[in-house]
Amino acid sequence: MTEAPALSIASRLEQIQARITAAAKAASRPAAGVHLVAVSKTHDAEACLEALAAGQRLFGENRVQEAQGKWPALRHRYPGLELHLIGPLQTNKVADAVALFDVIETLDREKLARALVAERDKGRRLPRLYIQVNTGAEEQKAGILPEAAPAFIALCRDELALPVEGLMCIPPVDEEPAPHFALLAQLARQHGLPAISMGMSGDFEIAIRFGATHVRVGTAIFGERPRAA
Ligand SMILES: *Cc1c(COP(=O)(O)O)cnc(C)c1O
Repeated sequence: MTEAPALSIASRLEQIQARITAAAKAASRPAAGVHLVAVSKTHDAEACLEALAAGQRLFGENRVQEAQGKWPALRHRYPGLELHLIGPLQTNKVADAVALFDVIETLDREKLARALVAERDKGRRLPRLYIQVNTGAEEQKAGILPEAAPAFIALCRDELALPVEGLMCIPPVDEEPAPHFALLAQLARQHGLPAISMGMSGDFEIAIRFGATHVRVGTAIFGERPRAA
């Protein structure tokens, strides 16, 4: 038996967009309110170029250093693209991240908030920021605990005047994601934050049902990752 040829990145993107549109419609939401962040971590510039050629302009990377090696040249060719940092950010990489990313989705602690303020004080234009919430209260996972989120949002947005626009979460892998999505959406609503980043390859349709404005999809577009990331 011969294996079916693998679908191209372009046709996978088309399929995911169709599923996003259907999920939005089922939730009585405008499809234009759901943005696909194509998670290209571990995949090379050629794969990113395929997605860019297919019209995709919004991408997510989880490591500053890897993104630095890939994206400046791609951005030169496609000035309109938008790059999101979706992985943990160490304070010693803040200047690099500020220079490279349009959105940092992983603001999760006061030290990082103050490092961003320090960049702004040096005259740097800050990326838009989402606060990562550890909805499952997992010890090893990044993100502010849900009960600490209101005070942290107030600190970042009101006291430090950081450009906080949304919330992001990664539910525990072994749990139903729905309650986590519901919690994140509720927090965002309570605090008037318009962007809600949640849902990955396996659960983005559920996330859309609960109000996701940004779904972060990697494997379903680019295929399995060559190494764990
Ligand atoms: C890798 C990653 C994704 C994409 O995961 P897939 O299951 O490959 O779609 C989404 N969000 C974050 C934070 C990630 O690190």
